[in-house]
Amino acid sequence: MNFIKLAELYSQLESISSGNEMREVISQFLATIPQDEINLICHLCIGNFGAQYEDKVLGIAEKTILKAIAKASGRSDKEIKEIANKKGDAGLVAEQVFKNKPFTLVPIGDLSIKEFDSKINKIISSSGKGSQDLKIKIIISMLQKCSSTEAKYLTRLLLNNMRIGVGDMTILDSLAIAFTGEKTNKKSLEKAYNIYPNVGVIAERLKSGGLEEVNKISIKVGTPIRVMLAQRVKDINQIKEKIPEEIAVETKYDGERVQVHKDINNKITLYSRRMENITYQFPDLVKYITEEVDAKDFILEGEIIPIAEDGSHLNFQTLMQRKRKTEIEKYVEKIPVKIYCFDLLYLNGKDMMQKLYPVRMKQLESIISGKNLKLTERIFTKDISVLDKFFNECISKGYEGIIVKSQEENSTYKAGARDWSWIKWKQDYITDAVDTLDLVVVGAFYGKGKRSGNYGSLLCATYNSEEDVFETISKLGTGMTDEILKQLPPLLETHKVDDKPARVIANKDMYPDVWFEPSVVVEVLATEVTRGNLHTCSQINGKGLALRFPRFIQIRENKSSEQATTSREVEDIFNN
Ligand code: ATP
Repeated sequence: MNFIKLAELYSQLESISSGNEMREVISQFLATIPQDEINLICHLCIGNFGAQYEDKVLGIAEKTILKAIAKASGRSDKEIKEIANKKGDAGLVAEQVFKNKPFTLVPIGDLSIKEFDSKINKIISSSGKGSQDLKIKIIISMLQKCSSTEAKYLTRLLLNNMRIGVGDMTILDSLAIAFTGEKTNKKSLEKAYNIYPNVGVIAERLKSGGLEEVNKISIKVGTPIRVMLAQRVKDINQIKEKIPEEIAVETKYDGERVQVHKDINNKITLYSRRMENITYQFPDLVKYITEEVDAKDFILEGEIIPIAEDGSHLNFQTLMQRKRKTEIEKYVEKIPVKIYCFDLLYLNGKDMMQKLYPVRMKQLESIISGKNLKLTERIFTKDISVLDKFFNECISKGYEGIIVKSQEENSTYKAGARDWSWIKWKQDYITDAVDTLDLVVVGAFYGKGKRSGNYGSLLCATYNSEEDVFETISKLGTGMTDEILKQLPPLLETHKVDDKPARVIANKDMYPDVWFEPSVVVEVLATEVTRGNLHTCSQINGKGLALRFPRFIQIRENKSSEQATTSREVEDIFNN
């Protein structure tokens, strides 16, 4: 297949404003892709070169691409810079200059997907001295084969800035339609995705052997598993209604969730909540895991906590300083960390997810020893007053609260699910009426008065995971400091699109001044959820859910748009 076919798809997707049409178009496209290309093409439909955890990132700066565009189109750097200043998007620059290629540049054949793939891999693997020049040369060689449309989208792909708003779930829907004829079969694909979050691999299996082949997908140590999540209640007494028997009550630490994988070759990989490979950030943890876990291979989960000199626990903000690409060793010394382990998903060649909580915990306890990997503190009780006492102790020690876990028949590990066998109870639930929500920024309104020249408020949405769409729930203008107001425009700029993204559902009255492809997630606190005419979250008879007195808390860098609070969760809060 040639790259032009993909470029035409991107162009078509850019003009689509409905999620269903988008899925339909992608499914028709995927149905035509040969077996040996479908894996890569699925990722490219999203605008990536591989699954999130594969970390296939080019890291090419815009100015490098502009240089390549200049060389490939026979224009001067100065000329290209001027056009870039006017257009503000390198993709549009490429599109314009390749429309009028000087006649001296003779077309040198088509860019095939195979050639594109091999060249992208060369760029990813090149590093060190001379790699910059090599990268530019490779990009030029691809651009020289491009039409204007191809150049536009190739440029955006290289900059990791497609702005077409297609997500993994959109691809699973489209695959179900393309290869089984039924969108409902997405459920089976999602089941595989929960333990093997790679839409490309799922597509390959589906195309070659149907659902039967997909159902054979199993856990692979080294490939992250989608994390299990906790439900929330409004009243502490509701915990008992949800889990009547004796419960395990664990401290809820405020650090960073980590999924630790060790394979039989002793290769250790750490994944974040977003399934990003964060191993390089924590060489100290890799050492502790090697020394303190006694097992051939395993997957365990825990919370990374920063530790003060006196051994006490520091907060999440301090830990964020370890999120860096340089001076890693210096920060290993400066901010030591430990892992508080709370689950075991795989052990010595066996899938542990179907085992019940007590069995998993016993095994977990039996394989860890030492001072840097600890089991989470926990008590077991049937009594809410005992639970409340433990909760208060946790709060007085500076923790966020507790996570209550079932020990019953339902206490298996449910990858990718927010399940009632885990319930979180936080200090915030007592001091504020509702929990914070993680909302996706889909638009912005220009500011007035003090905020003129900046965005005055943001249009925020929940993720409807059943329909794979983003539904608006709130206009957010309160709680943003001057610093945040300054930070937001550059952060959002790369996600700006001309029209409403296809997967966003909004009422015309709420159309913002600027639309964004759903990507940036913000944490928002509100006092109440109400039903009204303005928003589209969980609509019933044209009335959707909305937030009262929403207040911006922070940007949530560790969540992707499809990991935002779901419409169903807000509905649960409303009905509770
Ligand atoms: P969620 O992860 O539920 O989407 P969130 O990221 O906002 O929401 P919280 O709702 O505050 O996080 O709580 C869940 C998180 O708490 C887990 O993802 C994990 O990182 C953390 N955590 C801390 N202690 C524990 C524990 N003992 N068991 C499970 N999770 C824990």
